[in-house]
Amino acid sequence: MNRVRLLVFNAALGVLDYRVPPGMSVEPGSIVLAPLGPRQILGIVWEAERLDAKEVPEAKLRPLMEVLPVPPLRAPLRRLIEWTADYYCAPLSAVARMTLSSGAALKGGGTTTEYRLTGAEPARLTPQRAAALDALHGEQATIRELAEIAGVSDGVLRGMVGAGLLEPVVVDIDRPYPRALPDFAEPDLSPDQRAAAEAFVGAVEQGGFAPFLLDGVTGSGKTECYFEAVAAALRAGQQVLVLLPEIALTENFLRRFEARFGVPPVLWHSSLKSTERRRAWRAIASGEAQVVVGARSALFLPYARMGLIVVDEAHETSFKQDDGVRYNARDVAVIRARFEQVPVILASATPALESMQLAEAGIYRRIELPARFGGATLPHIDILDLREEPPERGRWLAPRLVAEMKTRLERGEQSLLFLNRRAYAPLTLCRHCGYRLQCPNCTAWLVEHRLSRRLACHHCGHEVPVPEACPECGTPDCLVACGPGVERIADEVAELLPEARVALVTSDTLNTPEKVAEFVAAAEGKLVDVIIGTQLVTKGYHFPELTLVGVVDADLGLEGGDLRAGERTYQQIAQVAGRAGRGEKPGEVLIQTRHPEAAVIAALAAGDRDAFYSAETESRREAGAPPFGRWAAIIVSSEDEAEARDAARAIGGARPDHPDVAILGPAPAPMALLRGRYRYRLLINARRSAELQKIIGQWLGRFQFPASVRVNIDVDPYSFV
Ligand SMILES: [Zn+2]
Ligand SMILES: [Zn+2]
Repeated sequence: MNRVRLLVFNAALGVLDYRVPPGMSVEPGSIVLAPLGPRQILGIVWEAERLDAKEVPEAKLRPLMEVLPVPPLRAPLRRLIEWTADYYCAPLSAVARMTLSSGAALKGGGTTTEYRLTGAEPARLTPQRAAALDALHGEQATIRELAEIAGVSDGVLRGMVGAGLLEPVVVDIDRPYPRALPDFAEPDLSPDQRAAAEAFVGAVEQGGFAPFLLDGVTGSGKTECYFEAVAAALRAGQQVLVLLPEIALTENFLRRFEARFGVPPVLWHSSLKSTERRRAWRAIASGEAQVVVGARSALFLPYARMGLIVVDEAHETSFKQDDGVRYNARDVAVIRARFEQVPVILASATPALESMQLAEAGIYRRIELPARFGGATLPHIDILDLREEPPERGRWLAPRLVAEMKTRLERGEQSLLFLNRRAYAPLTLCRHCGYRLQCPNCTAWLVEHRLSRRLACHHCGHEVPVPEACPECGTPDCLVACGPGVERIADEVAELLPEARVALVTSDTLNTPEKVAEFVAAAEGKLVDVIIGTQLVTKGYHFPELTLVGVVDADLGLEGGDLRAGERTYQQIAQVAGRAGRGEKPGEVLIQTRHPEAAVIAALAAGDRDAFYSAETESRREAGAPPFGRWAAIIVSSEDEAEARDAARAIGGARPDHPDVAILGPAPAPMALLRGRYRYRLLINARRSAELQKIIGQWLGRFQFPASVRVNIDVDPYSFV
């Protein structure tokens, strides 16, 4: 091949052709450096017939400069990149960029010098050198690390190098990861778990695409089941990817993984340091990384020998990315498994309706775990009708819930209160003139954070100190907080149960893995009586002494009413209810609501999941909503309101007339101002059979807007603001 076509990382440049100089060898997927004017750019060699470009005459081709020292991207990954770009109406280069997410790794490895004992044994030694000799048996590391191990200064060790007691060894800059052992610990599985595990192991051993829905109630031990599939892939020398929704919540997961396989997995998430990122990327690309546990971005990494993909808590909406390439990692994971021809397991206690539907259609194989592990029973769920049992004036917890919490406190058991609202109060207003404090950059109230004494916008991060006087009428001391957030509930608990030890669990308080670990240790060590939290507490935790869950406001999630409001409410409450009674003591759940008749609440109270799913399925079918029809959103935004409106109207005016699609809008988006940009929205509702992406592409392809106007396309949107 002496002529190649490159995918480059600048959508405006499109696709470029180059000449391969004599002596250089490239293949599709090779990552190369190429000249562009006076600069050099990064590119991926692609099959020329799959990328449209103007043919450049032979004489005008410039030669490639260099092939980067990393393995070429394999064909299944190249097909995944193409599929994702097509499906989500995103530039190919933007998707490919997610694969090359460590700039340092592309430069290849480097070397570093480590030291180890030479084995020489001198007759006389200073006490420090003698101590170092003892401490450093079998060790090999940098001088700095050895000094820490031996508890001596760098200088002592450098002296030992000079004396021939330590010798240098040149090693790769990225250390190998310790090997995971498939048989490190024998799992203790129930008969149900055993049957599920056998199905997964069979699929891994057989190979080929096999999608599973692992549908197991909270506490049923889903993780242990798919760990057996992980073990099977390890035995076959294959790599495994486990996607988890929020990486901060993996403390408990990592401990279980290490207990089963002897070592921690390779982690991939946004807060890795660049050296850790390089080490992980290179190990993934070489095949050395055996099990990668990561956030959604781990999905696009260049695995050398993929053998299995697992998506845990697969119903989680955080698998949907809401900026850049707006993909849903749960769905793309299944597509990747298909291209790689490997099994994929979606695990959840409350599967998304879309997944249930695919299982019903026989496309996914559904495996159920109907019982909790170790004989624990599912909690009893009771409705607390706030219209009949209202809280005292100015309070949010009804007397019956408070009485139950008191009983738990007396018995030394734990309670959990769930309210999916951060901070102290969602709205602050002036008692005198009614003025509401609003974000200047967004269509949103400012939220009072009493712990930090500030008002903050949860959309753009705008923050101000709580003013002394009303900014509108100037009356001093007249601002009042409206409605509860978790901080306010914590205040109420402190007043009602002053002796209770309270832990507040929100993204404001648990914002590092260390703080998460601290909280888990405190809760497990019975140093906490009442846990108050947002959706962060709904999943993953296993506290045996937790026997009461109170849902402070079950109606909250139903407000606003986007198409998944009912499903999301069901999932959140079912998940948080699942925290109760996981040990030997049975759990009790109290749901505070003003709408006990709502289908979601009634289904939760009756413990009738099937009733919920069938009601939800019917209403989606009638509305032509997913999975029966499809939605896409087009958001047009600009810092100039007239410009945004005009652009949206121009797009609306050119709407395609197609029997399979209905187009709503343009109208100001519910969040009409966000981070200083005015937003207009068009919504497309299409039949499943419609070629949605093609229709959108042809419709929008003819527009050229100035750079100040952004047009974002969101296929299968989760956010409707
Ligand atoms: Zn006022
Ligand atoms: Zn804002």
